[in-house]
Amino acid sequence: MSGAVLVVGSANADLVAEVPRRPGAGETLLGGDLRLLPGGKGANQAVAAARCGAATVMLGCVGRDANGAFLRERLIAAGVEVSGLAEVDRPTGAALILVTPDGENSIVVAPGANAEAGPELLERGAAALADARILVLSLEIPAETAFAFAAAAARSGTRTVFNAAPARSIPAEVLRSCDPLIVNEHEACAALGEPETEVTDFEALARRLLAAGARSVVITLGAEGAVVAEGTGGGDPVVARIAAHRVRAVDTTGAGDAFVGAVACELARGAELDEAVRFATAVSAMVVQRLGAQSSVPERAETEAYLA
Ligand code: ATP
Repeated sequence: MSGAVLVVGSANADLVAEVPRRPGAGETLLGGDLRLLPGGKGANQAVAAARCGAATVMLGCVGRDANGAFLRERLIAAGVEVSGLAEVDRPTGAALILVTPDGENSIVVAPGANAEAGPELLERGAAALADARILVLSLEIPAETAFAFAAAAARSGTRTVFNAAPARSIPAEVLRSCDPLIVNEHEACAALGEPETEVTDFEALARRLLAAGARSVVITLGAEGAVVAEGTGGGDPVVARIAAHRVRAVDTTGAGDAFVGAVACELARGAELDEAVRFATAVSAMVVQRLGAQSSVPERAETEAYLA
């Protein structure tokens, strides 16, 4: 079990139904046909890193059920090494997603097996961590597991891409191992432990995350692109805005996860952070033009052709 990118995170079965409107309390509505799609931040990020060309290992937990087998099969089909994906005695994680005609989602996540991904995963993942160039973490598994992996990566000198999503505050010692911390604007405020306010100056927000300890920061801003900020060891940080591609978005599900996986792949290949973000911006631009999350991530050759 070894790869340039090690993803430790969640795998979820996304159960999607289109509904005419959100049901009220006690109400039963008829919806469209149920769709079963592979999802979960960790699995989406692993698939994206592998499609971008990185040898990728995924560590996490699924249940001993059909959804677990389905998610494992999807990861394998994308070229992800899954021998570290444990089977546990809880249902595979699932996201129940209702889509209304305005394109809005209402989502309930049932973590199931993902909640069993405890810090003891570190023992099983020690060899993979030692081999990896880049560790990718997100927070749909217990936070103490992600934090323990971040600490272990800091000890072994493995670079950590930390996607602090879903939103929560991040301890300073964990921030110090984030290189980069990747967050959207809501997650950025939460990471700092601040109530959400209307943010207008994202460059300033990125600087504050650097001041709080992160080694580098990427704030993703949807169709507005991303802000990249890097510390310079005492001098003024370098902060830049990278514009998104102007495309017609059809389904933005998984754009953030594809972005994280693509950044991890490029860093593992030796790219500088700003180059990695430019590549990831192109990958995500293609993802938003297609339906689905994992299935819409392009192969590397397609992204290179798009950028040429
Ligand atoms: P999600 O959780 O919905 O997957 P997120 O909030 O983590 O998303 P976003 O900031 O929405 O992440 O998107 C990540 C990146 O995807 C952006 O930085 C941008 O490059 C690209 N992107 C997202 N939406 C669009 C869009 N409408 N047009 C072009 N690029 C987009």
